[in-house]
Formats: sequence, C-alpha cells, structure tokens
Amino acid sequence: MSDLSELYQALILDHKQHPRHFSALANANRKADGYNPFCGDRFTVYVDVENGEIEDIGVEGEGCAISTASASMMAEEVLGKSVEEVEERFEQFRRMMADTADDADYGALGDLEAFAGVRRFPTRIKCANLAWHTLHAALTNQETAVSTED
Ligand code: ZN
Repeated sequence: MSDLSELYQALILDHKQHPRHFSALANANRKADGYNPFCGDRFTVYVDVENGEIEDIGVEGEGCAISTASASMMAEEVLGKSVEEVEERFEQFRRMMADTADDADYGALGDLEAFAGVRRFPTRIKCANLAWHTLHAALTNQETAVSTED
C-alpha cells in the first residue's frame, strides 16, 4: 500500500468520525434530500446561497463511512465557493468516480481524490457520489428527493 493511499484512508476515517458541518441549517434557502437505497445512506443537504456563493452549508443524516466522509469533505470543499465553481467541482468529482482508466489528472480536486480508491468497490461509488448529487439538486432547486437509483 502506498503512503498516499494510507493518508487518504486516514483522511476518510477522520471525516467519518468527526463529520464537518453536520447540522441542519436554520437560515438555508436551498435544501435537498438524498437517498442511496443500495446502502441505506440518507442525507439532507442545506445551503445558504448569497450573491451566488455558498455562504453556509449543513448536512443532516446518516450513512456508511464512505458516504459520511464524502458529505463532510464536500461541505468543507464548497463552503465559500461560487455556485459555478461548485458545479464544476461536482462534474470533476463525478468524472473521477466514473473513470475506470484512472489516467486523468484530478489536481483540482485536491483531497477529494481520496475517494478515487473507492472505485475498486463499484457498489460504493454511489456512497461517495450521494452528497454531491444531493448538493447539486439543492443548488438547481430540484423539487424531488434524489435517489442514486436514477
Ligand atoms: Zn454507503
């Protein structure tokens, strides 16, 4: 096992044990529910968008280590960023998780690259993607709850 993958595992474990920004947001002006029926992960993502930027974010819910860590790291990553930047990051993350060749450069994703290792376990990819899909739904004001079954 490489030093990098050990570092990434420690990072995921830390975020699972101490999820950041895990609380409902009273002042949220966007919100979406996400559910991954394959694993039972269930999260609500609250966002306060002001002047096109993520002013505040909160996540509520429960899931496995991968989905919880992904939601926590996503919240840290997007806080303070513009909605455009966040949508770009969402696309990059999704592309990384779908990339079986693993030959792309994910430099912009930084620590989020920790989840690249999850691709070895295809059923867990949905766990890693759930929070991002839910955030995307909240930002695009989709009314219906998000399910990774779609
Ligand atoms: Zn899961």
